[in-house]
Amino acid sequence: MLQLINVCKSYTTADFTQTALDHVSVAFRDNEFVAVLGPSGSGKTTMLNIIGGLDHYDDGNLLIDGVSTSEYKDRDWDAYRNNRIGFVFQAYNLIPHQTILENVELALTLSGVSRAERRQRAVEALGRVGLAEHVSKKPSQLSGGQMQRVAIARALINDPEILLADEPTGALDSKTSVQIMDLLTEIADDRLVIMVTHNPELAQRYATRIVTLADGVIRDDTRPFDPAAENSPRRTAKQARRTSMSFLTALSLSFKNLLTKKGRTLMTAFAGSIGIIGIAAILSLANGVNSYIANVEEETLSEYPLQIQDQGFDMTSMMGLGSGAEGSSAEKAQDDAPDDDSGKPVHESKMIASTFDSIGSNDLASLKGYFDSGESGVESYVSSIEYGYNVTPQIFSSDTSGTVHQVNPDKSFASIGLGSSTASNGIMSSMMSTNIFYKLPDNMGMVEGQYDVMAGHWPENYDEIVLVLTPGGSVSDFMLYSMGLRDHAELESMVRAFANEEAVNAPSDSLSFSYDDLMSVTFKLVNAADFYQRDNEYGVWKDKSSDDAYMRNLVDNGETLKIAGVVKPKEGAKIASLQTGLYYPSSLVNHLIDQAGNTQIVQDQKANPATNVITGKSFADEESNQKNGNGFDMSSLFTIDGQKLQSA
Ligand code: ADP
Ligand code: MG
Repeated sequence: MLQLINVCKSYTTADFTQTALDHVSVAFRDNEFVAVLGPSGSGKTTMLNIIGGLDHYDDGNLLIDGVSTSEYKDRDWDAYRNNRIGFVFQAYNLIPHQTILENVELALTLSGVSRAERRQRAVEALGRVGLAEHVSKKPSQLSGGQMQRVAIARALINDPEILLADEPTGALDSKTSVQIMDLLTEIADDRLVIMVTHNPELAQRYATRIVTLADGVIRDDTRPFDPAAENSPRRTAKQARRTSMSFLTALSLSFKNLLTKKGRTLMTAFAGSIGIIGIAAILSLANGVNSYIANVEEETLSEYPLQIQDQGFDMTSMMGLGSGAEGSSAEKAQDDAPDDDSGKPVHESKMIASTFDSIGSNDLASLKGYFDSGESGVESYVSSIEYGYNVTPQIFSSDTSGTVHQVNPDKSFASIGLGSSTASNGIMSSMMSTNIFYKLPDNMGMVEGQYDVMAGHWPENYDEIVLVLTPGGSVSDFMLYSMGLRDHAELESMVRAFANEEAVNAPSDSLSFSYDDLMSVTFKLVNAADFYQRDNEYGVWKDKSSDDAYMRNLVDNGETLKIAGVVKPKEGAKIASLQTGLYYPSSLVNHLIDQAGNTQIVQDQKANPATNVITGKSFADEESNQKNGNGFDMSSLFTIDGQKLQSA
């Protein structure tokens, strides 16, 4: 049930305020066909848009099923629009280069319904509006009436409770208009249809109720509805169905949109900020599908683990301000000030400051100690705890006959500003990373259930890697470059051409490989500590990573990593925790840490904790230098003759 109470809306342009709705109060039954009549400019479209949540009222209230929308946030309006409302406009708003089937399907894409079901429902909806034979035509091959039918099919695909139509026949001849009206009448059989029209005859003939507007005021209503008096029974059955639908929509939105994205950490913060997981949990309680949601949550959290980093900041403090949805309290206070726009200063909103203000640091060593002690009791709430040590395995192609090529961390795109080499912050670097090597979780139970092993096996030893294919069983060309199955020089020349803004010659051939081909690839592992060589003359450790001969020797003598298995997401798996790439086991990280601990440079550093063994300077000096500039005082190179400068 929809009810507008004293709704006011005005539009202010440069120097003029136009009242579009002036204290409009009207309620609609769950099932009727309402025509809204009135001269042009009387506020019909404005009222329809406010009912549909496309526009917001200035004053008054809109009740949905008796619940006020005055506290609705953007996401509440989104959910309302997406799940309960269908729109039809005078302009059909179809996408010209897509078939009408695709046009209708598109309305479901965001809702996360599977492709097969999308298609089936689109075909059904088009059948319902009498266009079954035309599904593969483009909009330009249809008449106006047919295009409007497509728009109606699109509006119906979610089976909305309320269909809003703004002059749907405005561009059609009278014969076609009648057909559309017949269709709308049929649709109004089991839902609320509100249609704006300026054709009183059509309104008389088809609608069950006519509301007439003039100058933003309701002048006439042929069949008013007083919800208080009628005391209509609540449609509980339909409501339940509705909630479960929006629950599914909320879920699938959260997964489909977010799972494909790379920067997991940021997306986790983002998902948290828009509360998707929270919404899903609440809706699931309402629907009594706890076991299902528990399962989905477990799988989701394997994708979006709760992360505690040594430094963290609240990304949402930035986003809230950006969207204007939830301003800071200071901002609110200013908004509450009397509305005198003329002399009102423009206030600064503290986006950066409040973001960095929210930075906190965490004592992770103590936290781990606490978890390890077993006193926390956290085990019963988590499926696994993983520790990350910020160790990036230095991995190279084993073929050093040409150049020495490092594949992890990947630097293929460094020249065009992409890649992990520069960013130091954990969040940013995971966003910017072009790496294809990832660490497997410590706890493999959940992951193994999500994949089919196509060849070989999951890593059993630290020097074994597993190749994760796409759900379709393919591997990207970019991975082939890193694996040496495509010539890396080809990629380098493409990147170079791109950086120079020249035409890029992308290879058009498409290769295929047997599992044995893929599993014959090997890599070389080097301990980062070995990049440094002691310089006895100066008593420091020198970074040799750009010394070709040194690196070639190092890589040739490195440990060999082999691909032990190839896996693919199970058919129909809801969640696949691993994106495509090459995964090494967490035992590799432990191996590297153990190994590094025994190297001379680490021993030296440990023996001299106050001195940086790479530069020979004390950390304290370096830090104060850094505070005064970039570690190097430029001004010490110059003297300035003030008098000369002045006379110049
Ligand atoms: P109708 O659909 O009945 O023709 P509308 O609801 O579109 O009327 O418009 C009502 C009044 O509000 C008109 O005077 C119109 O000019 C004004 N109006 C509508 N939308 C806007 C807008 N976005 N900006 C400024 N004025 C608007
Ligand atoms: Mg209008």
